[in-house]
Amino acid sequence: MTSITFYGGVNEVGGNKVLVKDEDAKVFLDFGTSFTKKRNFYQEPLMKPKMFKELFKFNLLPEIEGLYFFSTSQPEIDGVFISHGHRDHSGYISFLKREIPVFCGETTKEILEGVFETQPRSYENNISGLKFKTFRTGDKIKIGSLTIEPVHCDHSIPGAYGFIIYTSSGSIVYTGDFRMHGKKPELTQDFVEKAEKAEPVALITEATNLTSGKVMSEKELKEKLKKSVKKTKELVLVNFALTDTDRLNSFYNVAEETGRKLVVTTKQAYLLKKLEKDKRLNLPKLRELTVFSREKKRVYRWEKEIIEQTETIDSASLAKKQNKYITILPFYSFQELLTIKPEPGSVFIHSSSEPFNEEQEVEYEKLENWLIAFGLPQYHLHVSGHIMPLELREVIERIKPKKVFPIHTEHPELFKKFMKDLKGEIEIVEHGKEYTLDKI
Ligand SMILES: [Zn+2]
Ligand SMILES: [Zn+2]
Repeated sequence: MTSITFYGGVNEVGGNKVLVKDEDAKVFLDFGTSFTKKRNFYQEPLMKPKMFKELFKFNLLPEIEGLYFFSTSQPEIDGVFISHGHRDHSGYISFLKREIPVFCGETTKEILEGVFETQPRSYENNISGLKFKTFRTGDKIKIGSLTIEPVHCDHSIPGAYGFIIYTSSGSIVYTGDFRMHGKKPELTQDFVEKAEKAEPVALITEATNLTSGKVMSEKELKEKLKKSVKKTKELVLVNFALTDTDRLNSFYNVAEETGRKLVVTTKQAYLLKKLEKDKRLNLPKLRELTVFSREKKRVYRWEKEIIEQTETIDSASLAKKQNKYITILPFYSFQELLTIKPEPGSVFIHSSSEPFNEEQEVEYEKLENWLIAFGLPQYHLHVSGHIMPLELREVIERIKPKKVFPIHTEHPELFKKFMKDLKGEIEIVEHGKEYTLDKI
């Protein structure tokens, strides 16, 4: 018997944790943090979970024996497969029992290490001792009666994969997060082609963009960005996801074309250093960038390393050369504005998704208050990391699954109505319910 149980990504964007059980194998597809759910119960840093087990109570973690490092029983799960490095798909691997192998792409491993290492120490950021096993497109990983085939796809983070899982009841296709309108649509095409050939009994698909998708390509974004930067006489401040390397390239190119230099955060620089060896990503070199050095009481070792190796600038110097740079300034660094003192005519470009964020919680109201206080108008320029509704319809029409499980969406009912005429039954997923495939 084969079954699928959803422990996250149900009526919410992100937090995917999908358990696939087959005759003699159990694997998880993704093991992400549910930011929305977490926000419903906690307010960090003042109020955070005291005991790990309380996370079971709020369905933040599935209550499964032997799955976590704090559990004394033997692991019953054979492996966790991570589709990509966004925390809403990978954030809770920190809780896993260290014997359980974590399968992911090589780039994802670098990103996870880079991102987790630069976070403050906490129960959620400790991935030391995890057993990573890396895969690439073309691999077929056999785990008992299951065979898992990862296939690359395009998303707003490099190294994203979808999975085709061959089970004793037929194949399951899991999209992870994917899109058609990004910089490398050919990757997603490869995935869809392989998924079609697998003639799946079930398709587990993301359906994020049902109410607010913006149709724009990265190339269009870059042109719009360039126009805005050209018109700006003074400071250009920007904010985008740490791991969105397509966006980093766009900002880097616009900076070059407008005679400015791009100022990145120490975290970005550290991640770039980790990803440097992957030439396919075509990322700017560290020496071509300037690194922002914040005033901090405590400088971590990794930060020191980066600052020593790169050209840096601090707020006081930036204040004197406002028109020479495009500066990435995440919300947590906004106090630097007190020293930078933006000149009239400066702008802030917000270039990540709203209202949710796949990497962290951002309080937009506070961000806006700061911008208002400093006289900085906000531009919102973004390309979604997620497939658009009409393209998703085409994908489903092509793959022809017998059953579709929409997840990673707040609107599964809308999805069902929109896709109703397609072949294949659409299941509105319930948290923790076991769906058997034999009955399909
Ligand atoms: Zn996601
Ligand atoms: Zn994602």
